[in-house]
Amino acid sequence: MEYQKILDQIQEELNYRDVFGKVASYIPELARVDPKKFGMHLYSTDAQQSSFGDSSEKLSIQSISKVFTLTMAMKILGEDLWDRVDVEPSGDPFNSLTQLEHEKGIPRNPFINSGALVICDILVSNLKDPKAELLEFVRKITGNPEIDYDYTVAASEKSTGYRNYALVNYMKALGNIKNDVEPIVDFYFHQCSLAMSCEELAKAFMLYANRGKLLETGERIISKTKNKRINALMQTCGFYDEAGEFSFEVGLPGKSGVGGGIVAIHPGQYSVAVWSPLLNPKGNSELGMAALERFTTLTGFSIF
Ligand code: GLN
Repeated sequence: MEYQKILDQIQEELNYRDVFGKVASYIPELARVDPKKFGMHLYSTDAQQSSFGDSSEKLSIQSISKVFTLTMAMKILGEDLWDRVDVEPSGDPFNSLTQLEHEKGIPRNPFINSGALVICDILVSNLKDPKAELLEFVRKITGNPEIDYDYTVAASEKSTGYRNYALVNYMKALGNIKNDVEPIVDFYFHQCSLAMSCEELAKAFMLYANRGKLLETGERIISKTKNKRINALMQTCGFYDEAGEFSFEVGLPGKSGVGGGIVAIHPGQYSVAVWSPLLNPKGNSELGMAALERFTTLTGFSIF
């Protein structure tokens, strides 16, 4: 498959000027990002790489980081993890509080904020230094020892992070949070602030496209079964109340973040990351989704 030709065509066809989306502004630092940024990087299991635009520039990966922390928590708790968080699509916005009351503080899935905050609680309980261990994990799977948090973005989100504080407090009242609130939200704001390029994201997610093993060394990072579960959750819950639409238009497991990044994988074939900061009303990159729709249409290569 000549991926580079297809990426070139996507870059030519799509233009940020046709996009009605808005840059995330509830995190003040994200409101400063240039809305014209547009990049894409593909990494295939036969080690081909193709890209265009701003694919090597760092973006704030935000909720894409929830896949990494979920992976770490699954390694620690195994199947017991599912006593603390469910595996059902929520159909509600990513930062919603409403379902928690009926569900005794058990979040619908690990990719909405409430679920990701329970995962943070688990990592705070089980790891000496969760921030350092998350960095070590991400550096290992990308092969880049320089990946880091963006401390300005983390502080900026903390300054306006009332909903995330509310979610942790509420779940603590309902009995599903074990630690103090502050270390949990501190870890969460840092994981969301991870700065990575499309190239680095595509490399990191190759793990999930390659059935839980690093492509270059063959080292197994997670079991095939856990990898299957993570990909299933990306398919059903990776885009919040737009997970159905993403499956319908693109047809790949994936994960988005309010920094405008999206990563999607085709098991056994490729991992692809795209970035455009302009978000649709559901908080997903409008141009990013369009680019991935063009990609699976032009290649004829989705999982369905
Ligand atoms: N840090 C963001 C938040 O908690 C992440 C949300 C997202 O990327 N969808 O609101």
